[in-house]
Amino acid sequence: MSSAGESTGRGIEVGDSREATVGGIRVRRAMPRRARRTVGAWCFADHMGPVSVTSEYGLNVGPHPHMGLQTVTWLIEGEALHRDSLGSQQLIAPGQLNLMTAGEGVSHAEESTRSYEGALEGIQLWIAQPEDTRHGPPAFEHHPDLPKLEISQCVMTVLIGDFNGISSPARHDTDLVGVDLALRSRIEVSLTPKFEYALIVLEGAIRVDETTLVPGKFGYLGANRDALVIESLEPSRAIMLGGEPFESPILMWWNFVGRTREEIEEAYRSWQSDDGKFGSVASDLARIETGPPYWNGF
Ligand code: MN
Repeated sequence: MSSAGESTGRGIEVGDSREATVGGIRVRRAMPRRARRTVGAWCFADHMGPVSVTSEYGLNVGPHPHMGLQTVTWLIEGEALHRDSLGSQQLIAPGQLNLMTAGEGVSHAEESTRSYEGALEGIQLWIAQPEDTRHGPPAFEHHPDLPKLEISQCVMTVLIGDFNGISSPARHDTDLVGVDLALRSRIEVSLTPKFEYALIVLEGAIRVDETTLVPGKFGYLGANRDALVIESLEPSRAIMLGGEPFESPILMWWNFVGRTREEIEEAYRSWQSDDGKFGSVASDLARIETGPPYWNGF
């Protein structure tokens, strides 16, 4: 049997995630990367944990703003509480999706539930919004259940977009896909040739095009593939991201995605002065502040 995934013979670009700390929890940041800012509209990926949380110690990300992007929160283990300036208050558990659209401006907090004790692990992804919607109103969606595809003991959950005939109900403003892969064997999946793709392994080890990917690695697969063979070397968990190459370069600084320094500076000043652009969040945690943009020209 041959497939396009095997016959392309193209290499996979493998990079290292870097360690960072978010809300007191260690993360592996797979994106953005200097060499590769976006995969489709996907522009940020933080693999959080696994970490052991208690009623005293847990996720504590105070109110902070976003602009021009969507945040995708997906947990592998544990629970967390989302609060935002739209008034949403949403508990999230494994298998559920929180999708917040920032548009022209929103703020949110991500908190420990305090009642949960145990392991916490998940991934937070950002999607750059296109010109069409990035100046639009903010929004929040919670999806308690998402469509799944099961092949040879592998369960693929479609977080957003379409994958092998399965469609997620989550909003998407550009042509893209995000899939959680729980892998236990060798599978072949169909891809969309006009999409570029990347793989982020959360647990275990997988083999794609003779390249082994493990946690902490970021594998960029490029475009022009209509199929892919993924072999799990042990029970593994991975996230596949794909999408049509983004319409324009983006400028990403702190929690904002824009196109020009001026609009990023304006967003920074709005948050600093709390002028109402980003609303307010009903959270006991302190508001997160930051210094001015690195170009610091104002
Ligand atoms: Mn955030």
